[in-house]
This record gives sequence, structure tokens and C-alpha cells, in this order.
Amino acid sequence: MHSWELVTAVDGPGTRMTTFLAGCPLRCLYCHNPDTMNARGGVPVLADDLLARIRRYRGVFRATGGGITLSGGEVLAQPEFARRVLRGAKDLGVHTAIDTSGFLGRNADDSLLSNVDLVLLDVKAGDETTYRRVTGGALAPTLEFGRRLAGLGIETWIRFVLVPGLTDHPATIGRVADYAASLGCVSRVEVLPFHQLGRDKWADLGLRYALDDTEPPTAESVAATRSVFRARGLITF
Ligand code: SF4
Repeated sequence: MHSWELVTAVDGPGTRMTTFLAGCPLRCLYCHNPDTMNARGGVPVLADDLLARIRRYRGVFRATGGGITLSGGEVLAQPEFARRVLRGAKDLGVHTAIDTSGFLGRNADDSLLSNVDLVLLDVKAGDETTYRRVTGGALAPTLEFGRRLAGLGIETWIRFVLVPGLTDHPATIGRVADYAASLGCVSRVEVLPFHQLGRDKWADLGLRYALDDTEPPTAESVAATRSVFRARGLITF
């Protein structure tokens, strides 16, 4: 585990305990938590210890309609740990979410997913070329994972990071929107404007940061992107 924090109005409904797991197979150019990419950047934690902490916050979760979100890094890089925490949380009556790129979706079998109330699925581009440029990985596993979620009827939020010069061309946005609209399990889309808050972390880690000169998108560009999703009937923020 890398770290955890209590957050409200992000990473799912209500007040949430977002737990960042260490280790990720992707290398997104805009990653704002590059310190979570490497599994060695975390500390070993027992699922039971995390569950004991979750238990302490049950009242907060109940009062706010919140719960836990397992994030990363990549939560599905540690499916057995995730399985135990998610099942334990459900046994405590706590709402559960996972925040994932879906790249390792095959690691999540149906029994793991049976204890997930909400998936925050990060779709980083709609076409293969852009996806590979952004993440270094292939797009197909993410698309396949989303379709599985649809088949299982698991509520899904799609998250898309808008990066000028990288993910803002109409072809990729249109494809993400078409895909989101095709699933039938997507209750919300979040268009997240790129920001530079993670820049210093890249430098601290001695990693090359490719987006040094990239500006955040304009308000008009964010609004136009959201309207592409809304035009397909998707509730979009
Ligand atoms: S999937 Fe998330 S944690 Fe992994 S590199 Fe991309 S942004 Fe960073």
C-alpha cells in the first residue's frame, strides 16, 4: 500500500477512504502519482489491518453515503488483497469502489467483482494509437473489462483526462463517448482537466516528464468535451 486519505466528492459518492496501492503496469505521461507506479514504493499491509481502519469509519460512510475506494497505482495488480478487502468491507456493510485503468481487468474474476458496488474506469483514449502514446499499453483490455462490467450490471463511472495536444482530438474523444454510451452501465462521466500538480514528483523521482510544456485545457475545451458526452445522453461532469 502506498497511502490513504479521506476525501469527499471525489473517487465515488460521499466521504471515502481512498487507498492507493503501490504498483502499476502502465506509464501514463500525465500520471500525477508517479510515486505509486513502482510496487517497491509501498509498504506491506495486512488486509485485516486495513479492514480494522475501515471499520472505524463506518459511521462517516453511513452518514455521507460514502465508502471505500481502492485506487492506485493499479488495484487489479493485487487482486487477492483487493478481494479480501472488498469482501470484508461488504461484510461490514460498506459501499465499495475500485478505481482502475482496466488494463488488468482479467485479474478481476466475477467473485471479486461481486463485492464491488462501483467501478471508476479510467479510459485514457478512444483509439489505440493515442492510448499507447499516453499509457505505453494496449487499449483492448480496458474496453473488454468495461463490457464485462456492463454484462454483470455493475455501476460504472467513466473518467477521461483531457490533455491538450495529447487526448483532445475529436476522434479519440468521440470514440470514448461512443464506447461509454454503448455500455449501458455508465451512470456518470467525469472529464478531468489535465493539471501540472504532479510535475514535481516526476523530478523528485528522477523520471523524465514529457508534459513539462503542456498547459491545462481551456474552460471552453473542457466544456466542449463534456458536451460530446452529454450529446450521447451521458450524465457528465
Ligand atoms: S494507470 Fe494511473 S497510476 Fe498507473 S501510470 Fe496511469 S495514471 Fe499513473
